[in-house]
Amino acid sequence: MAQVGWTLRGRILVEHLFQELTDTYGAISPLAGFRVRVQARERVAQVWGNWKTWDNVIINEDDEGGFQVSKIKSHHKRRFRVQVQFKSADLVIFGANRSLLQQVSRALRLRVLRSLGTELVLDQLLQHFTRLPYQADWHTIHVDRTGNGRRAGVIDLGDLTFETNAPDDLGDRIAHRQAELWFLYSRVIALFKSLGPEYRFNKKIAVKYPHNNPLLGDRIEASYANPENHMIYIVENSAVDDYARIDYVLHEMMHIWAYQHSRREKGMAWQLIIHGDTHNLQNRTWVAFHEGFAEWAYHQVYRRLFGRNPTISAGGTTDIEPRPYKRSHLTSAYGLSNLEQVDRHDWGWVSILNLLTTPNLVNYTFNGAGRHIARTRARPNRATICDDPALSFTDLLRLFLTDGRPGAARQLRRSEMHLSGVLERAVAVVPQFDRTAQTAVLSLLDPAATTMPRDLLCRPSR
Ligand SMILES: [Zn+2]
Repeated sequence: MAQVGWTLRGRILVEHLFQELTDTYGAISPLAGFRVRVQARERVAQVWGNWKTWDNVIINEDDEGGFQVSKIKSHHKRRFRVQVQFKSADLVIFGANRSLLQQVSRALRLRVLRSLGTELVLDQLLQHFTRLPYQADWHTIHVDRTGNGRRAGVIDLGDLTFETNAPDDLGDRIAHRQAELWFLYSRVIALFKSLGPEYRFNKKIAVKYPHNNPLLGDRIEASYANPENHMIYIVENSAVDDYARIDYVLHEMMHIWAYQHSRREKGMAWQLIIHGDTHNLQNRTWVAFHEGFAEWAYHQVYRRLFGRNPTISAGGTTDIEPRPYKRSHLTSAYGLSNLEQVDRHDWGWVSILNLLTTPNLVNYTFNGAGRHIARTRARPNRATICDDPALSFTDLLRLFLTDGRPGAARQLRRSEMHLSGVLERAVAVVPQFDRTAQTAVLSLLDPAATTMPRDLLCRPSR
């Protein structure tokens, strides 16, 4: 029987849902990196046969969303189906998988609900959810349902865009949102890769969206990043839609970066409950450190991706500035009256990390009223020389990777996740950050002090 050439091609795109992505990339962007499965079937004795997979292909980043599958086959007319799975070596997105959760909930419900709130049970729950075998769905983005089938040759399906009211799964609300999440997270993965090989996400990131844990009430459930399996759970239930919050979506991803670059340790179940309660003092500094870092790193990533500051509430008008707080603000807004309390508060840590990374501190005052440190009119005396110990973004990230000792790099441990531990690492790892800088940072953060940066960082030049 005569064999002929068949080529099926198309482009896969997404209509952006996040305003930030629309503003940065335009209304629609091509997608890349995930699996595309092309299937065909032919009519045998007047009946359409089973779908047969012709190929699985991955769209390259520079192919503008284009995919193509070519085969030599018989000339018989065929119908085609194209499906995608949001899965690669770097990232996978799992869907709801409701039946599996219900199964677990039946097994655990009574025992867990009776004692929910104790850390031991939460740790067990965390480990239990870690072992669930989630699945990445195949989304059908094109299927020939009618007609006698297509002829051999080049078949161009044109643009297949995840957008509202599109046919098949292209128009499915969840599939569309997963496609957008794929685009966003791929940008973040690329950003960290661009900083250098040691800063990239070093394991596959798994995301479960939508997530609705039947063990937890809809009002108390919150999105979280699981430190056991490095998986992000984005909650959607009858009370909350965390997907709508790009700040949450990025914040959780920064938790994963921190987990991947610090020592893996037990007792991390706080993540299951912390988000309902982030604005309180924590007993353990490492909880506040993880929370503060995830929040601060999301601000950094947001600025780098979108060229502007995030705002305090989604869609709000008050910018989150990349500067530390004034002492009076730490006290008036968060009730922090000494260094030890700053160390145990997530927004205390946001301020610490901003202080470490703000250049030219000597131009600012930490005293007086107002949210952020303000520029002073008074210039440092010409006869003085002033240090600028500011860490770059990668300097700060490097504090996770090594403590500066020769030999194998030593990752940040939970027992070092406090102000003095982190500053010790900075002194050891960052050349421009010396003991003078360490002393200055502690003084400038202290809500009870009144020192100015130039008192701490400048000296006579003679
Ligand atoms: Zn968090």
